[in-house]
Amino acid sequence: MFQHSYFDNKAASKVNFAYAMISKGYLRMKHYQHYINGAFCDPVSGSYFDTENPYTGQVWAKVAKGNASDVDAAVKAARAAFEGDWSAIGPTARGKLLVKLAEIIEREAVRLGKIEVRDNGKLIAEMGAQTKYLAEWYRYFGGLADKIEGSVIPSDKPGIFNFTRYEPLGVIGMITAWNSPLLLLAWKLAPALAAGNTAVIKPSEYTSASTLEFMELVEEAGFPTGVVNAITGFGLEVGAPLVDHPEVDKVAFTGSDVSGQKIYEAAAKKIMPVTLELGGKSPNIVFEDADFEAAIMGAISGIFAATGQTCIAGSRLLVQRSIHDKFVERLVEVAGAAKIGDPMSTETHVGPVTTMPQYEKIMDYIGIAKSEGATCVLGGDAYNGEGVKGKQFVQPTIFTGVNNQMRIAQEEVFGPVLSVIPFENEAEAVAIGNDIVYGLAAGVWTSDIGRALRMSEKLKAGTVWVNTYRAVSFTSPFGGYKRSGEGRESGKDAIKEFLQVKSVWIAQQTTAANPFIMR
Ligand code: NAD
Repeated sequence: MFQHSYFDNKAASKVNFAYAMISKGYLRMKHYQHYINGAFCDPVSGSYFDTENPYTGQVWAKVAKGNASDVDAAVKAARAAFEGDWSAIGPTARGKLLVKLAEIIEREAVRLGKIEVRDNGKLIAEMGAQTKYLAEWYRYFGGLADKIEGSVIPSDKPGIFNFTRYEPLGVIGMITAWNSPLLLLAWKLAPALAAGNTAVIKPSEYTSASTLEFMELVEEAGFPTGVVNAITGFGLEVGAPLVDHPEVDKVAFTGSDVSGQKIYEAAAKKIMPVTLELGGKSPNIVFEDADFEAAIMGAISGIFAATGQTCIAGSRLLVQRSIHDKFVERLVEVAGAAKIGDPMSTETHVGPVTTMPQYEKIMDYIGIAKSEGATCVLGGDAYNGEGVKGKQFVQPTIFTGVNNQMRIAQEEVFGPVLSVIPFENEAEAVAIGNDIVYGLAAGVWTSDIGRALRMSEKLKAGTVWVNTYRAVSFTSPFGGYKRSGEGRESGKDAIKEFLQVKSVWIAQQTTAANPFIMR
């Protein structure tokens, strides 16, 4: 499939063997090409850039370096498919293709999981299950494809029949972050295709491989040529031209609030709708009446799972003062025992940071927290211990003595760095929890159902978890309040993010009415 592939990567063992051969210089390195109009092709520039394994620090593949010309070709292919085969095919057939894709994803889940781990360094223990779970988004939205219904409006105008129809927007640009490429893509691609749109995808320049591998599955499922296209490259060279392209009708974006703001500004110039899934600094709030051990595990899961590189990280841990010291002591004990190392090992708890710039950013924030006067009770440095080959490891780090005005409490670190903030009572927990520009998620740990309901109402976040953390599903809407985003992904209403409504008025009998007054 890939013109420059010199080995078959269908089986993981073959990949590992080939990877060893590449390292020894016996084989040419794998090149990931663009996927445009149903074919893998070289970029117009002819250039490729390196993609690294964050665990080993070694280059393991080359990725096509796209530019505005590649974007134009991909958008034109998507436009032609939208105007042609894809619109003609009908919603039931669209749904069946999505369900077929779901079956193929399940068959290929292990392989996709390993590619994700190799490219982004997240744990195989998590990514293996996540790639299998992806199938559910395609199955769920495939089922919805032929249930998009307008309505007949009971009109107040005598003799006029009025109904609505929901129509796709057209070509959707999809831009994703590096932390969970295929999951973030599923949240966009499944509802967009179900609604009848076509797609041009731009994955992160750090983790492009899995998206290109995924295009093989799209092709096998039998989607018409040009319905799904993927181009790789950098934000300003590929992402920005995609947003600006006059034939792109919407952009669905996941990434930082800084990039999100630029995309919002560019979209405003075209009056183009966007979905923005941006960053967070979520409060994870523990009351004295909580199940102590469950809350400890919830706090750990909130910040050290995925090496803290999740938008929903519970990076501000608010602990009621009466249990603060005991809670921190146990937290340090459990987090301190986390095994750091190879993300391909199912024994590992904390893997590498995905990119070198991100590693440097995390280390900078550790320095900032120290200079602000926070007390480091765990970690606080790089990790160079046993079993670590590369350089992108950070120790699980906990700061106490943090007040909510410090930068370490207000700014997204996107790494394994926890700020612990004490509070006295429910009112103060709400005030601190909401005193932030972000509003992606929040956690509450309590055994009082009344408090659980009050807190869920008062916290300004798109998701509130009570006595659990990091639960997401294809069935439930996900998105941010405030600076964390615009629009929602997942859940049945997500399909409406990719539709527009038309109101149709039909006079039941024609009359020559006075043209100078409103009907
Ligand atoms: P990023 O904003 O640097 O990059 C995201 C994507 O945008 C990349 O593909 C990049 O190439 C592209 N891009 C960058 N500048 C662009 C521009 N001007 N125009 C068009 N495209 C551009 O983010 P990142 O570092 O890859 O990801 C980490 C961020 O993503 C964190 O802030 C995290 O919270 C957020 N995130 C949010 C969610 C969510 O669902 N809310 C999920 C995962 C990650």
